[in-house]
This record gives sequence, C-alpha cells and structure tokens, in this order.
Amino acid sequence: SDMIKVNRSTIIKAYQELKSEGLIASEVGKGTYVVYTDEIENNEKLHNFINRFYWDEIYSESSKQNYGDSISKIMKTDHGQRIISLSGGIPCPDSFPEEELKKIHMNLVENDMEKVFLHSPVDGYMPLKNEISNLLLNRGIKASPKEIMISSGSQQGLDLIVRTFINSGDVVLVEEPTFFAALQLFKTIGAKVIGVPIDNDGMRTDILKYLIDKHNPKCIYTIPTFQNPTGITMSMERRHELLNISSKYNVPIIEDDPYGELRYEGEDFPTLKALDRNNQVLYLSTFSKVIALGLRVGWIVAPEKVINKLSSLKQITDLHVNTLSQHTMYEFLKDGYYEKHVKRVKKEYLFKRNLMAMELQMDSLKECSFELPKGGYYIWYKVSNKLNSNSLIRRSVENGVNYMPGQLFYNKLGENNNYIRLNFTYPRREEIVERIKRLKDSIRQVR
Ligand code: PMP
Repeated sequence: SDMIKVNRSTIIKAYQELKSEGLIASEVGKGTYVVYTDEIENNEKLHNFINRFYWDEIYSESSKQNYGDSISKIMKTDHGQRIISLSGGIPCPDSFPEEELKKIHMNLVENDMEKVFLHSPVDGYMPLKNEISNLLLNRGIKASPKEIMISSGSQQGLDLIVRTFINSGDVVLVEEPTFFAALQLFKTIGAKVIGVPIDNDGMRTDILKYLIDKHNPKCIYTIPTFQNPTGITMSMERRHELLNISSKYNVPIIEDDPYGELRYEGEDFPTLKALDRNNQVLYLSTFSKVIALGLRVGWIVAPEKVINKLSSLKQITDLHVNTLSQHTMYEFLKDGYYEKHVKRVKKEYLFKRNLMAMELQMDSLKECSFELPKGGYYIWYKVSNKLNSNSLIRRSVENGVNYMPGQLFYNKLGENNNYIRLNFTYPRREEIVERIKRLKDSIRQVR
C-alpha cells in the first residue's frame, strides 16, 4: 500500500544516473543490481540519489504541471550584484523615492514599533485601503474600501482570484501573447488556456465572440493598457465591445493593470473597471512598477462579497500583507508623495524608452522592427524569423545581454520565435546604449 507509481522515463533517468555514479553492477547469472555496501561514501551517494527521485514522484498533480522557473531565475540572477539585464519587469533602483522612504521608515520604526511589527487585518490596513480608494478615482474607479483587498503584489491577487473561481478543466481566454506568469498560473491549476489574437488595438473582440461560443470560458484575462509583453493599449471601441460581450455572455473579466499610470504620450483611456456598469470586472493593480517591487503591495477591486471570499483564502495563504510595507505605502500616499513620484519616474522612463528606441533604430538591422509603446515597461522587438531563437539567446548571454524570449509569452510553445521582450526601465541610461549595441552584435553574429 506504500508503493509509489513511477514513470518509465524516471526509471530510465535513474538507471543512467546510477550507472554514471558507479552504483550499479551487472553479473552473469545475477542480473543488474544496485550496489549497497558498507562504504559510507557509497551509501550517501545512494541515499542522495533516492531522495532526488523520491521527491519528484510524490509532487501533487498540479505541481507536476510544467510551470517552469523563469521568474525565480530572473530574481536570482538580479539579486545581490547588479547584473544589467533587459529581461525583468523591474523599476530602476536609481528611481526609488529614496528620501521619502527613508523618512517614512525611520518614523515608523521609531514611533510606531508596535503597530508596524504586529499583524494587520487579512484584507488590508484600513487607512491604506482608504488612500487606494482615493487614488482609484484618478483612474475613474469608484470603489469603497470594502471593495478593496490589499494583496502581496498583483501576482498574489491573480493567484487568489484564480484559486477562488477556476476549476481544473475550465477554459480561460487570454490575449496571445500575454504575461507568462499568468499563463503558468492558469496551467498550474489545470485550466485550459485559449489565446485570443491581439493587434494594435488590443484583443481581437471580433474573434472573441466565436471563441466564447466554442469554448464556454470561465473568464477572460486581459492587460488592456501597455500590455505585457507587447506594450499595446486596447482602443476605446474594443474596451466597450469587450465589456458588452462579457455582459451578454456572462463571462467575467480579470483586468490586470500594473502599468496604466505609466503613459509617456497621448491621452489616458479609462480602465475597463471604470467603464464597467454590470460589475463584470475584477480589477488588479500594484505599486511594484511605479514605486518598488520589493515592498510587495498590490490590490484587488471586486464586489464586497467577492473580497470576503478572497479574504478567507488569503487568511490560510499568508494571513496578510507585510504590515511595515502597508504602513509605508499608507504614509507615502497620505503625505502626497505619490503623484510627484509618478511624474518623476515617467519623465525618466520616457527618456529611457526613447533612448532604447533610438539605439535600436540606429543603422537598423534588416528584418527587425518594433512599434514604439506609448507607455509601460517594454519594447516588443521583432527579429528576423530566419534567426534561430535558441542560438540568439545563447549568443546574447555570451555577449553579456539578457532579454525575455518571445516564446515564453505564447500559449502554444514552439511558435512565434521571432519576438523578444526588452525592458527599458531597469538599466541605467548608459547601460541601455551598451546592451543594445551588444544585442545588435549578437543578432549580426547569429545571422
Ligand atoms: N501582472 C502583470 C501584467 C505584470 O507584468 C506583473 C509584473 N511583471 C505582475 C502582474 C505582478 O506584479 P507584482 O509585483 O505586483 O506582483
């Protein structure tokens, strides 16, 4: 009854490892067997070996899904020493509101020790929710604090929503390409992901109707403003159309909006949540992209009933968001630093976007192109489809430049190898020039 089912591929892998470690012996008449001797070194090797395969075999079905470790790899490589990468979706530390954060932290630790090192309510620190409720008015969203929950970044917001609403086997519609961590999350819980094509006006709502009829989806996940990875913003017409379709077919929308405030040119569009008359939209946002990712403060806007349901899940997930971070963000908003800070980073990121675009365009490479994004974090760069994408990433890393391969953002792996996502907010100005030069050299060399 304690037996564990083992895959054939695991057995083959195990056999090969045992052989290379010298832990297998073959004798005529006895067959092939694992050597277990009194030699400590040998036995340690054997136990290490068993341990490795043992854990692989007992993971839950959902953990066995191939959700990859691309995010933790970025986090790891960028941690500690500052590896200058164009791959992450990270703000530049030079743009942190240093003086303000120092002042706020000193005050909190000196004067409010008890408050900031104790627990907070599961759904978030009420004064912070009040501030966020005010902030949302600028985005056209009227939400009372009861309709807001503070989450550990919008990544957790999405996770809580997905685990609350989606069953294994349910269909989720997403823009294709879309944020790879969302794709991985949907797949991990066993959802069937269907991609909706995207053009310069955002999600193709004409195709959406057909896909809803065909697949009967549970929800639609969208990043309508400065989409990750393409930088595309959904037009007004499509926003209305998407909301109409969502109401008509009764399919709720998850609107993920981490970049909406980072517009460098043109007029702002209202969020879907601002246009939502029938409470069809669950809205996610975060301070990660505008202030600091490491604070891990994001939020969800949803009907009060849904917030309560999400809270009961959050309670058993991590109890609440870090109290010090919540108080920090509350003080930051209350003292009126937020707007000034957004203005300042927008100016810097506009400069960096233009610089990266200029460097890419200078003696431009044949069959490589991009649309200049009007906001957000990324340039979605099309490289010639004659290039082998694996060779290009290998050569680029050898040449000291890293980026996100486009395939990661597609539902159907292996397709669409000719895009790469370049982040222009994290590198310093001079680093952008250097990295793009290296990228272009790599493209030339791989050709
Ligand atoms: N959604 C999208 C579209 C993102 O690009 C990101 C960050 N890369 C997140 C959610 C997660 O952000 P947070 O740090 O708030 O968890």
